[in-house]
Amino acid sequence: DPTTGKYKVSFIEGDGVGPEISKSVKRIFAAADVPVEFESCEVKPLLVNGVTAISEEAQKSINTNLVALKGPLATPVGKGHRSMNLTLRKTFGLFANLRPAKSIEGFKTIYGDVDLVLIRENTEGEYAGIEHAIVPGVVQSIKLITREASERVIRYAYEYARVSGRPRLVVVHKSTIQRLADGLFVRVAKEMAPEFPDVKLETELIDNTVLNVVQDPSSYSDAVSVCPNLYGDILSDLNSGLCAGSLGLTPSGNIGHKVSIFEAVHGSAPDIAGQNKANPTALLLSSVMMLNHMGLHKYADQIEKAVLTTIAAGPDTRTGDLRGSASTSSFTDAVIKRL
Ligand code: NAD
Repeated sequence: DPTTGKYKVSFIEGDGVGPEISKSVKRIFAAADVPVEFESCEVKPLLVNGVTAISEEAQKSINTNLVALKGPLATPVGKGHRSMNLTLRKTFGLFANLRPAKSIEGFKTIYGDVDLVLIRENTEGEYAGIEHAIVPGVVQSIKLITREASERVIRYAYEYARVSGRPRLVVVHKSTIQRLADGLFVRVAKEMAPEFPDVKLETELIDNTVLNVVQDPSSYSDAVSVCPNLYGDILSDLNSGLCAGSLGLTPSGNIGHKVSIFEAVHGSAPDIAGQNKANPTALLLSSVMMLNHMGLHKYADQIEKAVLTTIAAGPDTRTGDLRGSASTSSFTDAVIKRL
């Protein structure tokens, strides 16, 4: 915005604990003087001709600002609604899901040094929704893989590896069985390799990846992994589980050609909503990813460091999900003190 000198970002606060953790982000951004102005953006489930849709107002905000930060959205049960997250992905063409999983120093979990980056194809594979019953008792579910979608997510993964200084790109697949579908995904990665001579391409069967990650996650600290949709769904949660210790910690980015939306991985946590108990770290780390995506690295580093040192400082400044005694607001105060 040339009049304020600030970047406008659409902010979907979301449901349940959404408003509480969003308030924490806003307070910390204000205290750190981040040159971002949030534009509040409501995404309520809307049925247009029987299909779940996003309001025109919200679409306009996100299409204008190009970057959005998002709290969790509760999926309405019944009434023919599709998940709002899926709707957002489709509406804005968010083809890649970026999921880093990094251990927090000072917060002990089983694995000490996890530092994984996984990029999941976000639009097709088994999630294309093509399923039908042929005869009673026999159903067919189609996994759709296209060269176009494979190229854009693999190109993004190569570029992410290059920019983040990780020298290896690992394509995770099962082309021994899914010869055509995963075969195409792997072939696209190999064809693109000469464009990225600084990134070493490796291909790995998903069963090997699972075994390797569980035995020694640190062997992937210098790599970016990329895979088709369903493998990515499962692997990204495995990666988070290895390092996180709580759902309240994992951030993510949904990347499109034009628009990108950053969000916490967890849901609306209805069991603790409105009680000042939620851990805002996942949304805060999502906002850090967002600032890095926008090139505002100085502010990203400052906030990330303050959040991580607050968690490392001990149980008094940690929220309940990390076996601490802090509330959402007292954790936020402690982060602001460390900025
Ligand atoms: P959930 O993630 O909301 O909760 C699972 C457990 O983790 C709960 O015990 C909750 O208290 C805890 N938890 C989650 N976030 C936390 C945080 N920030 N701090 C502390 N504890 C936290 O999963 P759910 O109960 O399966 O889903 C609830 C609703 O959220 C559903 O309507 C679901 O559709 C929706 N959902 C949305 C998203 C999204 O918007 N990205 C993701 C998952 C689920």
